[in-house]
Amino acid sequence: MPMKTPEEYIESLRKLNRVVYMFGKRVEDVMNNPILRPSLNAVAMTYSMARRPEYADLMTATSHISGKKINRFTHIHQNVDDLVKKSKMGRLMGSHTGCCFQRCVGMDALNALSIVTYDIDARYGTEYNKRFLKYLEYVQENDLVCDGAMTDPKGDRSLPPHKQPDPDMYVRVIEERKNGIVVRGAKVHQTGALNSHEIIVMPTITMREEDRDYAISFAVPADTKGITYIIGRQASDTRKLEKGKMDQGNVSFGAHEALMVFDDVFVPWDRVFMYKEYDFSGQLVEQFAAYHRQSYACKAGVGDVLIGAVQTIAEYNGTDKAAHIKDKIVEMNHLNETLYCGCIACAAEGHRERSGTYTVDSLLANVHKQNVTRFPYEISRLAQDIAGGLVVTLPSEDDLKSEEAGKWLKKYFRGKDNVPAENRMRILRLIENLTMGTAAVGYLTESMHGAGSPQAQRIMISRLVNMKEKQKNSKKLCGIKDDE
Ligand code: SF4
Ligand code: FE
Repeated sequence: MPMKTPEEYIESLRKLNRVVYMFGKRVEDVMNNPILRPSLNAVAMTYSMARRPEYADLMTATSHISGKKINRFTHIHQNVDDLVKKSKMGRLMGSHTGCCFQRCVGMDALNALSIVTYDIDARYGTEYNKRFLKYLEYVQENDLVCDGAMTDPKGDRSLPPHKQPDPDMYVRVIEERKNGIVVRGAKVHQTGALNSHEIIVMPTITMREEDRDYAISFAVPADTKGITYIIGRQASDTRKLEKGKMDQGNVSFGAHEALMVFDDVFVPWDRVFMYKEYDFSGQLVEQFAAYHRQSYACKAGVGDVLIGAVQTIAEYNGTDKAAHIKDKIVEMNHLNETLYCGCIACAAEGHRERSGTYTVDSLLANVHKQNVTRFPYEISRLAQDIAGGLVVTLPSEDDLKSEEAGKWLKKYFRGKDNVPAENRMRILRLIENLTMGTAAVGYLTESMHGAGSPQAQRIMISRLVNMKEKQKNSKKLCGIKDDE
């Protein structure tokens, strides 16, 4: 039965025995921790949405290995239509959760490895693709969440891995055994790490021969001995510890990031997908990056939530008919739909790789992600402009509920046509959450740095544009003959 219910998903995670730290203490009950639970709810939505008939076309696919119906998050793209549906699924999920729903990294790692393992085998006669397909079958059959772990701590950025004063700044193999390898190092900013059954590790940069111990890719169960998770803080995270939910803005969903330490972790050979083939490390990084840059379709979905919230507060405030407000909301929509154009375009222009997997147009995926590093910031600026100063001066839910202060809030924060103060406060809290609270991690900073910081895309854009062709056309049109 390859599709889990959300309840089965949560139960399956409960069985994992992981070492997790937050606020200086070991987290014993990972599943019910109030800071972590909203992020679990968001990933559980990838399971519940897949069970709703109206979303089946986007949220599910047919496995090319087993022929069974599977969650699209575990699917290997078989054609351009699959790529387009992946982008649409990202927007759909973003608009239903209003946050990062975390499951795309694993999907992108699986697809990237389906291509690169095939290409390594073609050159070296290795068996990585066979191993990988067996692993993929296990992931699909059990409807697992995989964390695609790429970003290493990197230490001194001016030095390659093998020259770092501390050799553990990039994940590396420290021992080779008959039955597998032992790895050491860490991965940072791991989105949804604790909601994952599996961790798929990939190199983070192109490696050279001297760095071959670092050119490794493998998968391990999330509770493998030697792995420690340390949870990152988010602005306003401790609001999740409060009794009331209103001040969280998004009352159900969220996301988390973790530092993941591999303190001498054993990996059996059947889970190793690249071992010192340093000449393929760059391809794996770029392939994963192209897919993950496409995945930032999610931000168009989160943008939908923010735009909906802004339209609502404008109506509550009685400003929605003002020409400049209408125009600013048009601008927000224009930017948001431009984001959508990018993720659809790179999918529609996708192509088949030798392995049979379809991949996006890399140039357009990089252009899309470059837009994502900018537009959500402008959309957020406009949202704060329209919402007004109350986004940052609003008293708490406890004040609204208190006898003494509450009556004043209910009187003075009431909106147009007697919209209750509570509704007005709720929508303002959602705008706060998205533009400067916990969800701003996903909507803003992750838009900037996730799937590679802006400069990474600019390097790819400069490499991928066909400048010679452009020059040829320009010169021809004005009569310059030096090309002939
Ligand atoms: Fe997926 Fe977007 Fe979260 Fe990345 S930021 S994991 S693409 S939802
Ligand atoms: Fe991300």
